[in-house]
Amino acid sequence: MKAMVLTAPRSALRLTDLPRPQPAAHQVLIKVSACGVCRTDLHVVDGELPDAKLPLIPGHEIVGRIIEKGAAVERFAHGDRVGVPWLGQVCGVCAHCRAGRENLCDHARFTGYHIDGGYAEYTVADQRYCFAIPDAYDDLAAAPLLCAGLIGYRALVMAGDAQRLGIYGFGAAAHIVAQVARYQGRAIYAYSRPGDRESQRFALGLGAVWAGDSTATAPEALDAAIIFAPVGSLVPQALRAVRKGGAVICAGIHMSEIPAFPYEILWGERSVKSVANLTRRDGEELLALAPQVPVQTAIVPFALDQANAALAALRAGQFNGAAVLVP
Ligand SMILES: [Zn+2]
Ligand SMILES: [Zn+2]
Repeated sequence: MKAMVLTAPRSALRLTDLPRPQPAAHQVLIKVSACGVCRTDLHVVDGELPDAKLPLIPGHEIVGRIIEKGAAVERFAHGDRVGVPWLGQVCGVCAHCRAGRENLCDHARFTGYHIDGGYAEYTVADQRYCFAIPDAYDDLAAAPLLCAGLIGYRALVMAGDAQRLGIYGFGAAAHIVAQVARYQGRAIYAYSRPGDRESQRFALGLGAVWAGDSTATAPEALDAAIIFAPVGSLVPQALRAVRKGGAVICAGIHMSEIPAFPYEILWGERSVKSVANLTRRDGEELLALAPQVPVQTAIVPFALDQANAALAALRAGQFNGAAVLVP
């Protein structure tokens, strides 16, 4: 099979011919039809996350059909369409797993990071962590739901009942979350890179009540803010934008250093939290909710061998919505 492979951090992925993987007892072999490109893939390629598998096939927003299954697979049948998310495996016995916080499992393994992912024609995945894909979505449209959507959804749940919700960084996750938040009757205030009028127009088109530069002041105090951009200096900016008792939720896996800030902007029972990974329950909830909204994903397709170009375009903020590789 053809795959785009990372052999060393901070190097380009290489188109490589590899043997098709064989499914183990709990695994399904999937013919990949779409794989979303996530900002986390950039952090993996850039060597910003420790202990990545090498060589590695990145990609953790995988949609495809099952063409073979291991002996213990009982949740899915041959030919079923499934999605494979970032959460690849958990231990099930650590304190976090037992408390229903499998996203924080001490021994978790993640797709496209510790386990080969979907920048390939075929992949194997543990059926216990795969999702059925709702019929309302074609393969490409479904792919960004599997991480951008899931992490965004988890961040939105963490924002509680916030009515006035700030979103910093209007990329793949934000464009999905904004639709869900609006469906729930919330008002979205979208912050983009300074001067990025195109992103701001995109946000307004998705129903944001206000859009502006991340350095600008929104017309009203926010109840909560979600930061998707990997930019630590946004944390104090967001804290200044939220009201007393408000929360700032950092939804990325990696962020540049957060600068020192005066205690007075945290005081008043404001809080700063992070979102880590996903639980399978998050996935089931979002995939049930998305067709009701209905969430429509904006897709920018790239051929599999154009994965480096897709990553570069994501890094440069050159498109709205979500890049998706098509093997
Ligand atoms: Zn665990
Ligand atoms: Zn992701």
